[in-house]
Amino acid sequence: MQITKNKVVSIHYTLKNDAGLVIDSSEGAEPLVYLHGAQNIIPGLEQALEGKVADDALKVSIEAVDAYGEYNKELTQVVAAGMFEGVETLEEGMEFQAETEQGVQVIRIVNVDGDNITIDGNHPLAGERLHFDVNITEVRDATEDELSHGHVHGDDCCH
Ligand code: ZN
Repeated sequence: MQITKNKVVSIHYTLKNDAGLVIDSSEGAEPLVYLHGAQNIIPGLEQALEGKVADDALKVSIEAVDAYGEYNKELTQVVAAGMFEGVETLEEGMEFQAETEQGVQVIRIVNVDGDNITIDGNHPLAGERLHFDVNITEVRDATEDELSHGHVHGDDCCH
């Protein structure tokens, strides 16, 4: 069975950055299961998997624009420390969830200068070219439920 829109695909993967450092891997864990064509995974990887079958292995490099997007400087801003009510010590690297027009977004503190806090709403992998090693373990048809929800139902389902 080929990977096309509305197939449920299981993959094992290792993700490296441009420097060859492993950022993420499914090794030793359950494979990643996603619904193809539903934007469950980054566009570049979805494109690379199109038409492949179970037991295929592939290596693919994906430019930032087809991964987590280019780094957008406009997503950084300096805010007053008072914005972070109830947080005692503000430190570089802390992450917060913020309600935005695009839904819930993770905001990271990238600089603390007294009362001036620089926050960054870019995905941590924004601007990075990514390198995937992928093994396809299973391809199956999605169920009606999965199609109407736009995601896979399995052991670690969201509901
Ligand atoms: Zn669902």
